[in-house]
Amino acid sequence: MDMENRYESAEEIQTFHSILVSKFRTGQTKDLAWRKWQLKQLWWLVEDNEQAILDAIKADLNRSEVESYLTDLAGIRKDIIYHLDNIDAWAADEIIGDSFIARRLGLARIRKEPLGVVLIIGAWNFPVLLVLQPLIAAITAGCCAIIKPSEVAVACQNLLRDLVTQYLDPTAIRLVCAGVPETTKLLELPFNHIFFTGSANVGRHISAAAAIHLTPVTMELGGQSPAIIGRSADVERAAKSIAYAKFLNAGQICLTVNHVFVDAAVHDVFVDRLQYWNSQFLHGEKTITTAIVNQQHWKRLFGLLHQTKGTIVSGGSGNDESRRMEPAVVVDLDMDDPLLSEEIFGPICPVIKANVRQACQRINKGEHPLALYIFSSDSSEIQDILDNTNSGGVTINDVILHAGFPGAPFGGVGGSGHGYYHGPYGFKSFSHLRTIMSSPKWFDRLISFRYPPFSAAKKAK
Ligand code: NAD
Repeated sequence: MDMENRYESAEEIQTFHSILVSKFRTGQTKDLAWRKWQLKQLWWLVEDNEQAILDAIKADLNRSEVESYLTDLAGIRKDIIYHLDNIDAWAADEIIGDSFIARRLGLARIRKEPLGVVLIIGAWNFPVLLVLQPLIAAITAGCCAIIKPSEVAVACQNLLRDLVTQYLDPTAIRLVCAGVPETTKLLELPFNHIFFTGSANVGRHISAAAAIHLTPVTMELGGQSPAIIGRSADVERAAKSIAYAKFLNAGQICLTVNHVFVDAAVHDVFVDRLQYWNSQFLHGEKTITTAIVNQQHWKRLFGLLHQTKGTIVSGGSGNDESRRMEPAVVVDLDMDDPLLSEEIFGPICPVIKANVRQACQRINKGEHPLALYIFSSDSSEIQDILDNTNSGGVTINDVILHAGFPGAPFGGVGGSGHGYYHGPYGFKSFSHLRTIMSSPKWFDRLISFRYPPFSAAKKAK
């Protein structure tokens, strides 16, 4: 496994960019046949190299193959098929008009133009999915793209560099390996769109660099996604779902449950069942727990556990070398506990005793989260929570599922980001919607009243 970071030089990056700009100017990437060909090539990239990709993810994150298959690979495959099935409809001109007659006359339409040469920057937690999924949307829209995966997932980054060169049109799609200084140089180039997945702090740097060229950005950021468990909730289901969210990728998911607000009436039973499910998932037959990505994050998580004023009722131990942490449950903490000061991004679950109103107040004190999870069987309570909070998306009585609907927009709001992708929303993120009005002679006569002189007689008519 290639675990050595080798970054492209500033000159190489500049050359790639120039090649892509020239390619886009030829108009070839606008051709639907080219777009479909590249989507199919992407399919074969994944299909032919499935084992190599699974091995690379294992080398970077020590994640089980089944988990990687379900998360990174299945999503990419599903998306390619969905985009191939819909590309003709999405790319077709849309006739606009408020009335039947206006639509029949077809005077105005929306033409979907690819934005141009775009930059896609990914995070390490789903090192393959988070660059290839936006790339599917960029290709479908007819863009050229530079992809910059996270340098933290070295094996995946190096493998993807080889595969992208081998399978995709190198005059239109390039992968660049870069650390922070190289990415800073990369961001000096003029792109027509930047699609960024990562932390809010880095997102600010990206937005600032993009502003120099007035480049539009999509910000897929993280945050502290909470779960609210009301007194009417199916507690067993809530405990199992939340244990699962913290287990998957060792809680290193933007959509994971960061912390839980649980009503006092069901608090104790929830904490008990959460520990039960943690133990089931952890000690089940041949279970493999994903590692914490590196020593820096490993130390950060132990630092958070050390600082909390709450009580660690289970878990929180781990092996320094393998960086696998037993899922931790922390109780008896208040709303301002240090554990809630940042996105945890690991298998630590703070449980706060709070009713629904207190939970909503606390949520509204911070940035809008990427996801909100509501466990309740009371429809008016659910409605009330929806009315009084905001978040990128919501799953009711489960976790993460809202992000898996192919036709639904995925994105944050406020501190968790802006812009969307998945399905038609990704296509639109990489497209300019160009309104075209074609005015026939009779139409000019019909609206001739618009010409001066603007006499009072005209108004009377
Ligand atoms: P990160 O922000 O540290 O890095 C993301 C990317 O930015 C990497 O490719 C990195 O090389 C690059 N980068 C880092 N510092 C940079 C700088 N100063 N200038 C330019 N580029 C820089 O994020 P991460 O640690 O890779 O990922 C974790 C974060 O991503 C979490 O906050 C998580 O919630 C979020 N995330 C969000 C989504 C989503 O879809 N909304 C998905 C996955 C992860």
